[in-house]
Amino acid sequence: MTDAETLARKVQDGELRLYELEDHADAETAAAARRQLLAEEVGADLETVGEYAFDAADAEPNIENMVGAAQIPMGVVGPLPVDGGAAEGEHYLPLATTEGALLASVNRGVSTIRHAGGATARVLKSGMTRAPVFKVDDVAEAGEVSAWVREHVAELADAAEATTSHGELQDVTPYVVGDSVFLRFSYDTKDAMGMNMATIATEAACDVIEAETPADLVALSGNLCSDKKPAAINAVEGRGRTVSADVLIPHEQVEERLDTTTAAIAEANTRKNLVGSAKAGALGFNAHAANVVAAAFLALGQDAAQVVEGSNTITTVDAREEGLYASVTLASLEVGTVGGGTSLPTQSEALDVLGYGGGGDPAGSNADALAEVIAAGVLAGELSLLAALSSRHLSSAHAELGR
Ligand code: NAP
Repeated sequence: MTDAETLARKVQDGELRLYELEDHADAETAAAARRQLLAEEVGADLETVGEYAFDAADAEPNIENMVGAAQIPMGVVGPLPVDGGAAEGEHYLPLATTEGALLASVNRGVSTIRHAGGATARVLKSGMTRAPVFKVDDVAEAGEVSAWVREHVAELADAAEATTSHGELQDVTPYVVGDSVFLRFSYDTKDAMGMNMATIATEAACDVIEAETPADLVALSGNLCSDKKPAAINAVEGRGRTVSADVLIPHEQVEERLDTTTAAIAEANTRKNLVGSAKAGALGFNAHAANVVAAAFLALGQDAAQVVEGSNTITTVDAREEGLYASVTLASLEVGTVGGGTSLPTQSEALDVLGYGGGGDPAGSNADALAEVIAAGVLAGELSLLAALSSRHLSSAHAELGR
């Protein structure tokens, strides 16, 4: 085993590449060597980056060229009562962010929801997708391949499911554009977010398609999946979990706790979240769903780039006779309680705060519960921001009226 200084020197001398250090030292030493190299090459002091609380070797499945850890402040909001299909009872939701005031605002929404009796939440659809693209000769052949796929879903499921003990193929939907055939595979991935699982399973199914049809695979992902990019298909068809949360808040509690009125919040929601988002050509019709999704993803070991899909959220507010009714529907919330970053020590501890770490019983129930609590957190964030916006309007209106 080589020490950090020697390793750093060998990289500088061109004897070793940056990514080869773990072949010559343990993960801690390799990370220390890279920090030393950076200190010498660019003069950056990475002392704090190097002070992390987990074993570097545990992070090997999650990172290459490791130098340390980016530490993001983590807080908690709650208790948040959620009556879900899987989530049950009161929850403290860990959120990691660098945006001051975010947790205070979300917590105000949480406390309003709690005093109103809690949020109701349901996962309404679940399916992780992967959509390979194939090349064919012409549209006639595209039609043939699509028809073959529709008739052989069971055979494709056999091939796909042979690669996983948890995943189940639900559906394969063909889309044709000229001589390109896209096949959108959708899987029940249980407690895993499922992107690796779906990709591996789809590759096996593609082998069958290539053997049985004239289609040639061009790319295992043809962007109709659609992963980590804004895409209407996810907002319409869903991806990961489609999850809704709602609450009914008595009018007097809106005034007491949110310092505004039901009518003002409803108007802000219509003009901002619905009309404004439509005018902007947005996929998400919400105030800041991505804020809670991102902070929850960072705290709970989710794939941060999938906040893009998490922002495909529609917020509704109705002034009902008995109170303010508010809902959020997240069309494509991609979450898991196993795999990916969920087993890293801080992320796993954060999942324990919720009580949904690891595989659920039945499988899939922990990830469903996580989706429902995040949706309730998004609802809290929407209520608080809409209230802040509408009370500003209210106070200026009061000032005008008072003159
Ligand atoms: P994973 O860490 O690759 O695999 C999770 C595995 O856990 C499953 O495949 C399953 O094994 C096993 N498992 C054990 N208990 C389970 C349970 N109760 N429910 C479901 N599975 C259970 O995780 P992943 O969710 O498939 O993929 C997430 C990772 O993919 C993240 O790191 C993300 O960053 C990355 N990612 C990959 C791509 C890509 O294109 N490959 C794209 C985006 C993100 P069995 O399958 O053997 O049952």
